[in-house]
Amino acid sequence: MSLTGHLQIIWMENSSAHTERLLSIQTLPSSLRNAKTTSIMISSKAYAALDSKTPLQPYNLSRRSVGPNDVHIEILYCGVCHSDLHQARNEWGGSLYPMVPGHEIVGRVVEAGSQVSRFKAGDIAAVGVIVDSCRHCNPCKQDLEQYCIEAPTVTYNGYERDGKTLSQGGYSTNIVTNQHFVLRVDPGSDLKAVAPLLCAGITTWSPLRHLKVGKGMRVAVAGLGGLGHMGLKFAVSLGAEVTLISTSHEKEKDARRLGAHNFINVKDSAALKKFNCYFDVILNTISAPHDYKTYLDLLTLNGTMAIVGLPPEAQTVSPFSLLTNRRSIMGSCIGGIKETQEMLDYCAANNIVSDVEVIPMQQINEAFERMQKGDVRYRFVIDLAS
Ligand SMILES: [Zn+2]
Ligand SMILES: [Zn+2]
Repeated sequence: MSLTGHLQIIWMENSSAHTERLLSIQTLPSSLRNAKTTSIMISSKAYAALDSKTPLQPYNLSRRSVGPNDVHIEILYCGVCHSDLHQARNEWGGSLYPMVPGHEIVGRVVEAGSQVSRFKAGDIAAVGVIVDSCRHCNPCKQDLEQYCIEAPTVTYNGYERDGKTLSQGGYSTNIVTNQHFVLRVDPGSDLKAVAPLLCAGITTWSPLRHLKVGKGMRVAVAGLGGLGHMGLKFAVSLGAEVTLISTSHEKEKDARRLGAHNFINVKDSAALKKFNCYFDVILNTISAPHDYKTYLDLLTLNGTMAIVGLPPEAQTVSPFSLLTNRRSIMGSCIGGIKETQEMLDYCAANNIVSDVEVIPMQQINEAFERMQKGDVRYRFVIDLAS
């Protein structure tokens, strides 16, 4: 459901910059290159996928020792994102094993490095989908690290900046992350329900903010899952008139409970006709194959459909759907670190969290099965104390 797995494939294809960076690391004097490997590693208990076929199982891993710019976090909660399942099962290709999934991480700071001033032991902190980037390309300089030209380091199923250490995610008892990629969390908030904000939250927040969604705008959210329920909450909170579009009539009650002003069952042609050329923005969170035209027809003059859901196959778009009303389609990938912090602060100030079902770590494989069937309202969160 998230974009990260898909992007990973693009990043892997765009590897020349990556190779250059590796070469520059290799030209460092060996004393510097090996400086970190001599210090004491931090052990972590985790659940990992060892291949694409077998269930996740207990796994021990080592985290790097705390460098001057690192924050060592004891993980309290980790959300279960649909992309965890896709990547654990290699459904997007290129998965790296052993893989400890999880990129919706909330925890307590155990130790902060000597150069870290924003965090101290005991603080509540969070880590999302990316844990590093080049920091000097054009997108990085604009606080858009998720679009880093040299490819950001994803929290799991990727390589650290050394190009050889596998990054490992939040289905584990701790993580060590560079301070730039660590977020502050209001300690008074419902921490288990904050965790999904780190992926489902920021993925929907970023396009809504980019499109300046607010009062007087008509916004539709297509799909009511992990992403959709957050997009709906945000659009309502930002003051827009919000409509939920679903293929299932059963979602109407929940959509209205979450604040939707209108509901469209996409199989109801009368409803589609009623909302023809109506919306300024459609936030499309649907990850199953679907006809883009049905949704584009609902956009008014200068309307935009923002894609955050990832159907497995390429979708076709008729130019006529775009020429009419000067419509646009845009894609959006998670959000930058600065924007993620703004989203977390906004959520704390406005009492917004995710709807979650907490599970012990040992039930992750059952949770994957239920998530596959859409049987979750709306996000599983692992309690790492288990
Ligand atoms: Zn995710
Ligand atoms: Zn960059």
